[in-house]
Amino acid sequence: MTERNTWVLASHNAGKIKELEAILSPHGIALKGAAEIGLDEPDETEPTFEGNAALKARAAWTATGLTCLSDDSGLAVDALGGDPGVLSARWAGPERDFNTAMARVHDALGASGSANRAARFVCVVALCREDGAISHYRGEVAGEIVWPPRGEAGFGYDAIFQPEGEDRTFAEMTAAEKRAMSHRGRALTALVAAEFER
Ligand code: IMP
Repeated sequence: MTERNTWVLASHNAGKIKELEAILSPHGIALKGAAEIGLDEPDETEPTFEGNAALKARAAWTATGLTCLSDDSGLAVDALGGDPGVLSARWAGPERDFNTAMARVHDALGASGSANRAARFVCVVALCREDGAISHYRGEVAGEIVWPPRGEAGFGYDAIFQPEGEDRTFAEMTAAEKRAMSHRGRALTALVAAEFER
């Protein structure tokens, strides 16, 4: 495989690297993680998923000059005006405690007085090419917030998110089941369709 077919993934998350590589390797793309090549993670200072994904991809491109891929994702709850949204990781605090983050969503819903439990997971991937041009691909999955949390699989807010038409949360599904309907899977499917199936 030549360098042209290796993309830098602007993430230090080994789980993300594995998940994205499983989707891209059939298309001849290998991924190198940011940590593997000594790149820092920039602060996510933008108010949108698109902005943060672009910021991460561009920072990696500036450092390497290679084709760089990034993703930014989060949980958007309708009755909370889209929160935690781009702040999804930060709601878990410096300890990255998602039991606390899930309880915070539940408490905020209670305080909102709304009976609306609709929510979406959103993922935007940004691809920064060798010439610096950026393309975005967005994937979403609609569902509802359940309480108490259910299931042991997955990560983050999976145990309180039940996709539309399902009676299990993401944390009660296998990784393959989740990937087939997830926001990240859908964003990557859009990227593959646009980049490889033209
Ligand atoms: P970032 O994309 O690295 O900024 O982090 C996104 C945050 O959103 C993660 O830390 C999780 O809290 C949450 N999140 C994103 N995707 C998922 C998912 O598939 N399941 C559960 N939580 C998720």
